[in-house]
Amino acid sequence: MTLAKLVTNQVIFKASQIWGVDLRVENQVHTSWTDGKNSIPEMENSAQRNDLRVLVFTEHTSSDSGNWFPKFVNEVNSLPISELEIYVGTEVRIKDFSGGIDLNEDVEQLSQVVLASVHRFPDKAGKPIEFSNINHSSSVCDTELALMSAAIRTKRAHIIAHPFGMSLRRYNQKPTVLHWEKLIEVATEHEVALEFNSKYHQDDFSILERFIDSDCLISLGSDAHSIYEVGECSKKVIKFLGL
Ligand SMILES: [Zn+2]
Repeated sequence: MTLAKLVTNQVIFKASQIWGVDLRVENQVHTSWTDGKNSIPEMENSAQRNDLRVLVFTEHTSSDSGNWFPKFVNEVNSLPISELEIYVGTEVRIKDFSGGIDLNEDVEQLSQVVLASVHRFPDKAGKPIEFSNINHSSSVCDTELALMSAAIRTKRAHIIAHPFGMSLRRYNQKPTVLHWEKLIEVATEHEVALEFNSKYHQDDFSILERFIDSDCLISLGSDAHSIYEVGECSKKVIKFLGL
């Protein structure tokens, strides 16, 4: 699906319009098809109970996922029709510093929404490096920024999921104002949305405020792996903005 259509459908938002749109969206969900605890129908049910308007299934995939992904898509598409708008998508790993993402072509064809994220740092050949082998004194934020910026430039993903999440959660390193500014600049220039993620960014709403001030494209995701997390991010953001 085009990015423009996702904005029109209010799945992702232009920051300047955030006060006038319906923010009841969940743009990052995983199910028992990969590492989530609950099934597709259970997650959908939770979205209904939490009064969401949009639910995007974003299963983890890699270049090897071409076999099972069509079955996953079928299951999402066979959910009962309701007022809840359901999208099918995927979250893939940013592979290298040239902007390569681990996205299978068949998965890409079937996905309405593509999220790209840094889950591991790659070595020069694009092979993931073990977490314990990363030098903590080096700026992991610089590395994460370089990977995200490269992926943004290739524009194969609509959304960069949990930006700087690896630096924050794995290495307890906080990006500087300059890190955020550089990321937002490249994302705005290439029209790729940045995710505010309630699991990785927690209650640091200064990140969201930075997005809003710079008028980039924003996505809201909880990285929900169970029914209890569906809609968490939008709920927090709506409360924070006083909407
Ligand atoms: Zn992720």
